[in-house]
Amino acid sequence: MNKESISGLILAGGRGTRMGHVDKGLQPFGGTTMVAHVLARLEPQVATVAINANRNLDTYAGYGVPVWTDDTPDYAGPLAGLQAGLRRCATTYLLTAPCDSPFLPADLAERLHEGLRTAGADLAVAVTEENGRRQVHPVFCLLKASLEPVLSAYLDGGGRRMDGWYPQIKVAEVLFDDADAFRNINTLDELRELDTVKVPRLADVVSCLSAYDPDALPVRDAQRIIRDFVTPVRATEMVALRAALGRVLAADVVSPINVPAHDNSAMDGYALRGSDLPADVPARLRVIGTAYAGRAFDGKAQPGECVRIMTGAVMPAGCDSVVPQEFVTVEDDTMVIAPGTLRAGDNRRLAGEDLKAGSAALRAGKIVRPADLGLLASLGVAEVPVQRRLRVAFFSTGDELRSIGQPLDEGCVYDSNRYTIYGMLQRQGCDLIDMGVVRDDPQALEQALRDACENADAIITSGGVSVGAADYTKQIMARLGDVTFWKIGMRPGRPLAFGRIASNGRSAFLFGLPGNPVAVMVSFYFFAREALLRMMGAEAPLELVRARSAATIRKKPGRTEYQRGILARGADGQPAVTITGAQGSGILRSMSEANCMVVLHDEQGTVQAGDMVDVLLFEGLI
Ligand code: AMP
Ligand code: MG
Repeated sequence: MNKESISGLILAGGRGTRMGHVDKGLQPFGGTTMVAHVLARLEPQVATVAINANRNLDTYAGYGVPVWTDDTPDYAGPLAGLQAGLRRCATTYLLTAPCDSPFLPADLAERLHEGLRTAGADLAVAVTEENGRRQVHPVFCLLKASLEPVLSAYLDGGGRRMDGWYPQIKVAEVLFDDADAFRNINTLDELRELDTVKVPRLADVVSCLSAYDPDALPVRDAQRIIRDFVTPVRATEMVALRAALGRVLAADVVSPINVPAHDNSAMDGYALRGSDLPADVPARLRVIGTAYAGRAFDGKAQPGECVRIMTGAVMPAGCDSVVPQEFVTVEDDTMVIAPGTLRAGDNRRLAGEDLKAGSAALRAGKIVRPADLGLLASLGVAEVPVQRRLRVAFFSTGDELRSIGQPLDEGCVYDSNRYTIYGMLQRQGCDLIDMGVVRDDPQALEQALRDACENADAIITSGGVSVGAADYTKQIMARLGDVTFWKIGMRPGRPLAFGRIASNGRSAFLFGLPGNPVAVMVSFYFFAREALLRMMGAEAPLELVRARSAATIRKKPGRTEYQRGILARGADGQPAVTITGAQGSGILRSMSEANCMVVLHDEQGTVQAGDMVDVLLFEGLI
């Protein structure tokens, strides 16, 4: 698809009757307005976007896009908006979406275009299926701009129904899997409900904790607040099977077939009738043919007969068991099997034993792994719905930081955090926006945060959240949104900023990580990682394993400590963990040499050699 050939049009020209005549598009939603959400989702899909509106024109123009009013008077409905769009758009196609559909799919243009092209149609319209019911969404459509005369004639003749003019043109229906994405919001109550459900305020989340002290917050509480506050990104897309590796499934994948499709043999041997096996004397069965994998035996075995069979071959009619070839003897065309070798039903794989047709092969929220690709391939599934990639912007703060390639001035350090953060985000499958180093300067910081916010779903910064004199980061973060600053009961990594900031109608979740290189990684893994996965629509809690500590580890109760360790097989053959070298929060080498982190929880005191401890393995962390 060439997006340059498509103009987007947001339909915001209605009376808002069901909403008490309010202007729907301008209703607050998710920290901004509904139309801002639609705009944000439509813009990346098309060459330009315009808004069709009939009142509050200046406010709509404030979004920086053209605003087109109806030519047909008296609120003639969405078709009048379509007409206005067709008359003014300068591209081959026009794509429309209503202003009250803040969750519209990220691949709306692409899929409608594909549907229109393959059907050779004039207009493609989105269709979803809910509980077996087909639902057409006429306001989500892609149409040829050349249809303007046909539509105008229909409107001039008094036609108002969205689909009333379909008989005069060629229409293609395009099925989308994610019915939720087409959900429009019709009443103010519905809007309020969705808004509060989707966008909690930090104060509300925090109030659920019995004792909340931002200056001495246990790790567990911080994790819980973050988990309750972040919300998943709702856009989804269809991708070809291989491209789904590492992505998050957006819907259950239901098996279209039984796996295996037929009863078949688990062994190379002889298929026979279980009832032919006497308990105490050898059975002598006549071999009447051979069944190969992919080439069935098409006769039927009668009593006293058997069929030579290969692994995976369809069970011949009449047979219910397979005896492995190494357990029998064959004389001419007779197979002899000793008593007690086999029970009826042995070595037969049943149709649907792996998966039954109609059952969920994989669940929404699963991160697709190599085995899942194979499983989906075994079902003949060519493409799968996945969540759109999460966009994460990140930058480092600090006047002392230099980027690779710059001379290292007196008292300066190279910026390493941006590289560890890059690595951790990359492994998590995010789309990255690397914004470089930002100086400890209020204006530069504000601009960077605003840019990040307008272009990403989440922002990760490092440095500037402790109490240093030149750290303006906190003030500016607080000014831009709902952000809280914690001192967490942990080592390394006490300071953490978390919240949600907004700029120009866009918003993003913010993780202000500490500056120290080890603290950055620890804070990322134990706070940001799970939150980002949640935003990606995945559930993948950190798995800690238990291992024996090879030596004493000194620790005071009252805070969580993360020590870098090496997990290896001990002298007794069992896994044992040893702490690596100096544990200072700036010593990145300790992280690089380690293959795991030992997690010593709040209440834990000094660990004795031989005690079991919790360990987070680095390999396998996404
Ligand atoms: P801050 O929290 O900004 O006071 O930083 C704490 C410590 O981490 C200081 O020693 C910084 O120089 C160091 N630091 C901050 N950001 C980075 C970075 N991106 N790369 C390496 N070290 C950093
Ligand atoms: Mg700093």
